[in-house]
Amino acid sequence: SVPVLTIDGPSGSGKGTISRLVAEHLGWRLLDSGALYRAVGYAAGMAGLDLSDADAVTRCAQTTKIQFRAALHDGETRVIVNGHDATDELRTETAGAAASAIASIPSVRQALVDLQLSFRKAPGLVADGRDMGTVIFPDAPYKVFLTASAGERAKRRYKQLKEKGLSVTLASLQSEIEARDARDASRAVAPLKPAADAVLVDTTGMGIEDVVAKVLAVVKP
Ligand code: C5P
Repeated sequence: SVPVLTIDGPSGSGKGTISRLVAEHLGWRLLDSGALYRAVGYAAGMAGLDLSDADAVTRCAQTTKIQFRAALHDGETRVIVNGHDATDELRTETAGAAASAIASIPSVRQALVDLQLSFRKAPGLVADGRDMGTVIFPDAPYKVFLTASAGERAKRRYKQLKEKGLSVTLASLQSEIEARDARDASRAVAPLKPAADAVLVDTTGMGIEDVVAKVLAVVKP
């Protein structure tokens, strides 16, 4: 069957960047599952839904059209939600918090399963998220769980958002991320935790290239 490398971990662990580079290196497809939850949270917000209304948000997850469009010339992948390019809106910590809120609803998660499975195509898939190795691709032959200290994760996200021209303070970002991680780790369904057979990589103090090399070594020892 088509090989999958799952890369799970908390926000700011470097998953996004590392997954993209590793997928490029292997020539495999990439699934940014967080973008799906962000897109549903965003669509629900646009529709004026109460994010705790499980039925309404589930219908929204079932009907929202999410497309990834590879940008030309090395640019970043655009995320199109119901025909609207929402890439910039989806990056914010507000969108992260909305994603985390709707991601705790089991029927919302269920609504996104088939879409995620459909990314598994030859020659291989790198799947980035929270439950890739535990729930969506439990049979994946390669699994990694990335971590980093809370302080370092907040600093990385801060730098990323600043580079995108978003105004945030490090202190507020750190408390928002901690709240989101605590919710992701404590929810009843698909809580953030390493798969039993995942290789743990603590990226605190590590450069991107070193992390990429470590992850690639899991696939090609
Ligand atoms: O990875 P990202 O920060 O984009 O994810 C946003 C939120 O979506 C996470 O905080 C988490 O609540 C949710 N999520 C999830 N399962 C995934 C990916 C993301 O619950 N596989």
